[in-house]
Amino acid sequence: MELCDFSALRLAEMLRTREVSATEILRSVFRRIEEREEAVNAYITVARDHALAQADRIDRRLADGESLPPVAGIPLAVKDNLCTRGIRTTCGSRMLENYVPTYDATAVERALAAGAVMIGKANLDEFGMGSSTENSAFGPTRNPLDTAYVPGGSSGGSAAAVAAGEAVFALGTDTGGSIRLPAAFCGLVGIKPTYGRVSRHGVVAYASSLDQVGVLARSVEDGAFLLHTIAGHDVMDSTSAAREKDSMLHGLNNGVKGLKIGLPREYFVEGLDAALRRRIEEAVRRFEVEGAEVLDITLPHTTYATSVYYLIATAEAGSNLARYDGVKYGYRASGNFTDIVSLYNRTRSEAFGPEVKRRILLGTYILSTGYYDAYYLKAQQARALIRQDFDSAFRNVDCILTPVSPTGPFKFGEKTASPLQMYLVDVYTASVNLCGLPAVSLPCGTAAGLPAAFQLIGRRFDEKTLLRAAVAYERLGGGPGGAEHG
Ligand code: GLN
Repeated sequence: MELCDFSALRLAEMLRTREVSATEILRSVFRRIEEREEAVNAYITVARDHALAQADRIDRRLADGESLPPVAGIPLAVKDNLCTRGIRTTCGSRMLENYVPTYDATAVERALAAGAVMIGKANLDEFGMGSSTENSAFGPTRNPLDTAYVPGGSSGGSAAAVAAGEAVFALGTDTGGSIRLPAAFCGLVGIKPTYGRVSRHGVVAYASSLDQVGVLARSVEDGAFLLHTIAGHDVMDSTSAAREKDSMLHGLNNGVKGLKIGLPREYFVEGLDAALRRRIEEAVRRFEVEGAEVLDITLPHTTYATSVYYLIATAEAGSNLARYDGVKYGYRASGNFTDIVSLYNRTRSEAFGPEVKRRILLGTYILSTGYYDAYYLKAQQARALIRQDFDSAFRNVDCILTPVSPTGPFKFGEKTASPLQMYLVDVYTASVNLCGLPAVSLPCGTAAGLPAAFQLIGRRFDEKTLLRAAVAYERLGGGPGGAEHG
């Protein structure tokens, strides 16, 4: 096993005892990138010099006897929709192919300030729109566990980088499942925190009421420490919550005795792969054996979730993406234009990919006069009902256990012909974003030789309970399929 395959916490310990240096860890990651990147395509940009300089700074500080936070010196992949000062931030789109931000997203700034070593910018579905990382203008990312399969999306590059040893942990964003799904498909832990827990300043907007920054890692604790590093109020994002976050890491090892876990009957229905379902049921039994109380619950408006999600997400996307007009920044079609409309038309036709165009068209339609009440307003009303379902469920249970997706990883091209099939992959994850809840995706062995996973959903701002349950499960040996985590 190489250094690049170790857990972040193990590496932090080795750095603290001066067994290894940050530069040695980084070299191990670079070697792996040389071996695997061509097949995997996890990165759009590798920030080699930036990483070397940061690792060197950390080594000097350690040599000076400084004690550093646990993420210091650990190789980090950053999804390419988070702004990075001086390093291009493409969103997987031709539109931003040459966009170099002048500032770091708050999440990135905090990770770097704590000493994380950013390896590069990870591939994604264009603007986060997709579930397979097949919609990137920079080519698809492949699942490192079997390159015939997709890594999930849209944070597929982040997940593939960590699973391949091309990074040790990663930042992603989750609008409808984009952290949890790729984590599930690559045998990793994915944490999507409560809406407002992490600042969205510097996150290129897809759907602002749903977008949230989170983490992908090889163990719950690795993820928890990274999340703790980036979380907290930020004056640059008025939707970030002014809540104390320290409690997130308290009591992680307290076990699940007496914890009430709800199983929503609407989530265990036809369409859920049989082998995957068996793995999830085994996970449920393990919780029971450990002293958790498992209860049947109901979330009656679940059937509306996918439609409501795609109505709201496309409406917000249509409005957010109006800023790419060939004037302010980003791609601009070449030629002499006599009027502004043809400049807009050509620029947007040339630089957006087909899925992004589909979303903009849908979103524009949904918000247009005459259809607004029938679609957008209705969707907001249904969203309120879905939220009430969760609120009443959480009066009786502490967390909710569900699948992450109806099947395990699928093959390249399997769902690209039908956007609807692709949208249905989000059936178990999108409600969490509609309600702003925190959720964790956890590996639970394999089904048909590929990673299996389940999801734990928590109360708003109760990451603490969620992470405690996740740690307890991981200790029982459910553990990541992809990598060593000791
Ligand atoms: N697959 C969903 C979509 O395409 C979710 C994407 C995401 O969370 N960014 O909208």
